[in-house]
Amino acid sequence: MAKSTFNETDKSIQCPYALNCGACSYAGMTYEGELKVKDAQIKKIFEGLCDFPHINGMYRPVYYRNKVHAVVSGNKENPIITGTYEEGTHNVVAVKQCLIEDKQCNDIMDTLRSLFVSFKYKPYDEDTKRGFIRHILMRKGFSTKEIMVVLVTGEVMFPSKNNFIKALLEAHPEITTIVQNVNNMGSSMVLGSRSIVLYGKGYIEDVLCGFRFRISPSSFYQINPAQTEKLYKAAIKMADLTKKDTLIDAYCGIGTIGIAASKSAGQVIGVELNREAVHDAQINAQLNNISNIKFVNEDAGEFLVAYAARHKADVVIMDPPRSGSTPEFLDSLIKITPSRIVYISCNPETQARDLKVLVKGGYEIKQAAAYDLFPHTSHVESVVLMSRKEK
Ligand code: SAH
Repeated sequence: MAKSTFNETDKSIQCPYALNCGACSYAGMTYEGELKVKDAQIKKIFEGLCDFPHINGMYRPVYYRNKVHAVVSGNKENPIITGTYEEGTHNVVAVKQCLIEDKQCNDIMDTLRSLFVSFKYKPYDEDTKRGFIRHILMRKGFSTKEIMVVLVTGEVMFPSKNNFIKALLEAHPEITTIVQNVNNMGSSMVLGSRSIVLYGKGYIEDVLCGFRFRISPSSFYQINPAQTEKLYKAAIKMADLTKKDTLIDAYCGIGTIGIAASKSAGQVIGVELNREAVHDAQINAQLNNISNIKFVNEDAGEFLVAYAARHKADVVIMDPPRSGSTPEFLDSLIKITPSRIVYISCNPETQARDLKVLVKGGYEIKQAAAYDLFPHTSHVESVVLMSRKEK
C-alpha cells in the first residue's frame, strides 16, 4: 500500500486509508483550498445570522491530534489489526500510519500490535463477547510530554499482565502511565466504568494557556492544543471580563476555560456532567492556586434552571457537545440576563440553531470567529459573542 505523505508546500495530505477510514475528507486538497471550503460551509450555515472572517488555519497541519483511539480487531491473515470503523459499519479499517495523530502514539500503536500477537491476546468480538483486547486509547500532553496508554479490555482478568507492561515500557520508556479499562457493555462507548491503574499516576497533565491541567481517561480535553490556545484566548477576550463579574463556564470539562478566565473575573462557576472531569477540574483549580472558582457536577440545563430562579450572572461562556444546548438551558440562560454570552461550538449547525433562540430572547451577535481545530477533516470550531440588547 502507498505511504501517507504530508506536502510541506501546499500543506495537503495524501493518505491511502482516507477513503475507507473516513476521517480526512479533504485528503488530496491543498490546505488553502480546504480552508476556503470551510469558509463557504460556515457562511451557508450562518446566513442571515452573522458574518465570519476567514477561518484561522493551523500553521503546520500534521500530527496534531494529542488523542489517539483505535479499535482492535483481527482476521485470518492478521490476528491483530488496529484502526477505525468504516463509516456507518462495524468493519474495522486497518490503519498503520496516520498523519493527523501524534507520531509517537503511532509508534506505540505499532508496538502494541506486535506485543498483542506475541502475548497471544485475542481481539474482543462484539457479537460473541469473546476475546480480550477491545480498544486502545492514548493521550499525550504536548507541553509536558506525558503519555497515557489505556487498554480497554472485555474482562478484568489480564493474562501475563506484569510481563506485558514490562515489555511495553522497555520499548517505550516515554509512556508515563498505563491504565486498564474494563468494558463488557454492548454499546458503542469506548470506555467502560471501571479503570485500573497498571502503571504510573493514572492520568496525564498538560499545560494550556499557561495553566496546568490534569486529564483523566474519560475527561474531555481538546485534541489540538496549538489551535485550542488561540480559540480560548479569543473567547476570553470576547467575554471582556472585569473583577466584578460572575462568570458561568457551562459544559466546562476539566475546567480549562473557567480556570484560564478566572484571573480576570470576580467569581467563576463551572458546570459539567462527567464526574471524572469535575474531579479533575477541582484538582486543576488547586494545581493553579485558583480560589475564586467552584465546580458543580450536574446537567448544565438542570443547573441553570435552578440557578435562574435565584441568581443572575454577568457573563456565560458555553461550550456544549456536538448536539448543542437544550431548550431548558437556553430558556434559563435568557432569564439570568447575562450581558454577554460567548458560545463555543464544534458543530456550527447546532450552534446556529441555538443562536436563533438567543436572538429571539433579546440578544444580538457582536462578533464571530472560526478556528480549524481539525485540519483535513470536515469539522470546524466556532466562537460567537452575543450581547444583551438594551431595552
Ligand atoms: N469546555 C471544555 C469541555 C467542552 S466539551 C473544554 O473546552 O475542554 C463538552 C463538555 O460537555 C464535555 O466535557 C461533556 O462531558 C460535557 N457535557 C455533555 N453533556 C452535558 C450536560 N448535559 N450538562 C453538562 N455538561 C455536559
